[in-house]
Amino acid sequence: MNKFIFNFSSKEVKKIKNPKNILGGKGANLSEMGRMGFPVPPGFTISTNVCDLFYKNKKKLNSKIINQIKSELKVIEKVVKKKFGDLKNPLLLSVRSGARVSMPGMMDTILNLGLNDETVKALSNKTLNGRFAKDSYRRFIQMYGNVVLGVESHHFEELIENYKLTKGVLLDTELDESDWDGLISDFKKVVKEKTQKDFPQNVYDQLLGAISAVFLSWESNRAKIYRKLNQIPSEWGTAVNVQSMVFGNMGNDCATGVVFTRNPSDGSNDIYGEYLINAQGEDVVAGTRTPQYITKKARKDANVKDPSMEESMPKVYKQLEKILIKLETHYKDMQDVEFTVENNKLWILQTRSGKRTSKSAVKIAVDMVKEKLISKKQAILRIDPSSLDTLLHPTLDEKSEINVIANGLPASPGAASGKVVFTSEEAEKLNDMMQDTILVRVETSPEDIQGMHAAKGILTARGGMTSHAAVVARGMGRPCVSGSSEIDINYESKIFKTSELEVKEGDIITIDGSTGRIILGKVPTVKPEISGDFSKLMSWADDTRKLKVRTNSETPIDTKTARDFGAEGIGLCRTEHMFFDEERILSVREMILSKSKEDRAKALAKLLPHQKKDFVEIFKIMDGLPVTVRLLDPPLHEFLPHSDKEIQEVANVVGVDLKEVKSRISELHEQNPMLGHRGCRLGISYPEIYEMQCRAIFEALVELKKNKVKSAFPEIMIPLVSTEVEIKIMKELVNKIAKTVQEENKVKIDFMVGTMIELPRAAVKAKDIAKHAEFFSFGTNDLTQTTFGISRDDSGKFLNDYIDNKIFDIDPFVSIDEGVEDLIEIAVLKGKKQNKKIKLGICGEHGGDPKSIAFCSRVGLNYVSCSPYRVPIARLAAAQAEILKK
Ligand code: ADP
Ligand code: MG
Ligand code: MG
Repeated sequence: MNKFIFNFSSKEVKKIKNPKNILGGKGANLSEMGRMGFPVPPGFTISTNVCDLFYKNKKKLNSKIINQIKSELKVIEKVVKKKFGDLKNPLLLSVRSGARVSMPGMMDTILNLGLNDETVKALSNKTLNGRFAKDSYRRFIQMYGNVVLGVESHHFEELIENYKLTKGVLLDTELDESDWDGLISDFKKVVKEKTQKDFPQNVYDQLLGAISAVFLSWESNRAKIYRKLNQIPSEWGTAVNVQSMVFGNMGNDCATGVVFTRNPSDGSNDIYGEYLINAQGEDVVAGTRTPQYITKKARKDANVKDPSMEESMPKVYKQLEKILIKLETHYKDMQDVEFTVENNKLWILQTRSGKRTSKSAVKIAVDMVKEKLISKKQAILRIDPSSLDTLLHPTLDEKSEINVIANGLPASPGAASGKVVFTSEEAEKLNDMMQDTILVRVETSPEDIQGMHAAKGILTARGGMTSHAAVVARGMGRPCVSGSSEIDINYESKIFKTSELEVKEGDIITIDGSTGRIILGKVPTVKPEISGDFSKLMSWADDTRKLKVRTNSETPIDTKTARDFGAEGIGLCRTEHMFFDEERILSVREMILSKSKEDRAKALAKLLPHQKKDFVEIFKIMDGLPVTVRLLDPPLHEFLPHSDKEIQEVANVVGVDLKEVKSRISELHEQNPMLGHRGCRLGISYPEIYEMQCRAIFEALVELKKNKVKSAFPEIMIPLVSTEVEIKIMKELVNKIAKTVQEENKVKIDFMVGTMIELPRAAVKAKDIAKHAEFFSFGTNDLTQTTFGISRDDSGKFLNDYIDNKIFDIDPFVSIDEGVEDLIEIAVLKGKKQNKKIKLGICGEHGGDPKSIAFCSRVGLNYVSCSPYRVPIARLAAAQAEILKK
């Protein structure tokens, strides 16, 4: 393409397919608003392609482009009847950045360009307003000095502050023409001192310098960081908009402001915004003067006296209101609009889709469907599923005072306050006494489950977003800040230290799992409101999606929560979590330490009623829905005690001496437990364990049936299968127990037997495995670990290097990796080939990740399963996947 520069009013823009890619968001919208007949100051856009050329040409503009810029400038001069650099009626320009997507505050804008020692006099004469002309010039030197010449802005600000102090005034508006005159010469001195050059007086030099600076700001550090956080490719580049200036700082019939077409914090359909009289550019957001409200209603609600724009400039306000309505109808979304009023004339300077809170996003989407502005499908696509998280957890009341003492990773959203405790026992003890705690650990292990449940929040010094603490906390819906390297925990003295202070056991802290902040003291929280709009949106999502959404849950509380959030069954009920309960762990340990089959049977018999009771409760809550129960999975040593005191306790119960227990513990030690004696390998070695678990499931069903209580439908799942014979033996075991229990009770029971697919061999040999499995559930956590040969718990150490070096785009434990996807696809095809009716689901952490959910939908799974608090997220993501599939 040969055309690099587009006038806002150019008809050619209409022919561009994706105008935002070429003109940037700001440029494309300015041009569109111009064509719609709105008052936009004339100007042109230098396309994003030039950004690329600029960097290829040693960071210089080539002569062809410079010539195009000059000829476009002529067009503006003609329209506004002013001339650039003229000594009678000078044209002033703004030079504005604008990438494809808005990157607020990341790049630079320069206003009042074209002023120098001569043109400033002309401006003063022409407008008969010397103060305005000098104010504009000093602003220009400040902005240009900073952005283009690299003079730090505090140098200028200090000069203004000192001057005001000497003069004894508070506000910039109290400075007059001669004051600014003095400051202008001081500003120029600073520029000379810092850059060894005079402030440029040639207006063309100024213009090319500013355009280059905007291109350069694309590669500034802050822009790079912003791009990385928001996954914006660096190839996109920025466009530059050159526009004639309009002035909000010419007097009291002038103003500048920012306005949203709806309220961005609660979504109500009221215009909401702020403005300042006699001001320019970013004065509204700079915070030096307090801006006033746009509407009378907002002013009254906030109980302030300063008149709203609706009251002080009623005519202009009416015009603005009309334009806002048209803009919203045109873009079919809430708009964030920048405007300026010059001598009672309104100018629109920018429009874009407004950023908003999750709450208002939901309300606006639902309202717009009611207003017939958008379709239900569009409404579903508008909401980022992950953002619903903030609607489901209590959040900090940001209005209160907050003393942040350290930061960590935002591992599980929501906020919690409580007394600091360093052990799970202490958390449980205080919980029994109805006291709130924050469990602070270097890292957590499966043994901490009870304590994590008892605590209101979890804080760890080590471990990433997928560490044990993070995963379990998300599953339980507990707020969690993980991996805070800024805290130093000392279990012995029961304190943790930050660089500044010491926090003792019993001190109260607050953690914010949505941002990773660790705060001293109790901060009040606000409870989430699951409003009518939210459930309306969810009902549309449910009507749209084909993929079912289940939950991972093993406690009655979590199961109930998940059902309330719309779970359509349990996709993973981990029976080992039921083993960690205080009453049971001793029997579990007794079972593991038994030397003979008989002793083991005795210990298992003690566990049976407990497991049965859990199943009864869960089956009741999930009545009529499927519940996938996974038989024991982790290696047995995870259940064994570490402290001498606990080891002694077990020794007493089992009736052997301490030494023997210790030697059994070391016998069970494994070099690589992830690949060791676990999953169905336990079922092969100790069938009586699985037999007890099956009996508990079946007896629970019998009990419910006898009491005429509606039950869930159990799907018994065998973990870590890799061969056909394993699943065959396990299935026979399950069927044998089913037969016995049915005969004992003369009651018929219905169930399914299936397997997890979590090893590459299982995926590849899925056809053989499907001969004996009625369902597959993809355990993508382990499947990812075993596909890569990476241990999730150790990956934290090098994962960042992999992301920095672009080996991984995203953590494969967060979004399913391509290679793992291929394995799943193979297993789906082969499984279906063997058994057309095979039921397919996923139960790894990925089941709650929108990107992975889209894959599950494409590959034809029947359901995803995720932690209770992610159920609504998965429902929405599944609906989006369905819409985008077509
Ligand atoms: P950002 O992308 O950071 O919002 P902008 O390019 O929108 O930066 O510029 C910031 C502000 O500068 C605008 O909100 C507006 O107040 C002011 N501004 C920009 N262009 C003009 C102009 N042509 N006339 C008057 N003010 C302008
Ligand atoms: Mg702007
Ligand atoms: Mg597993």
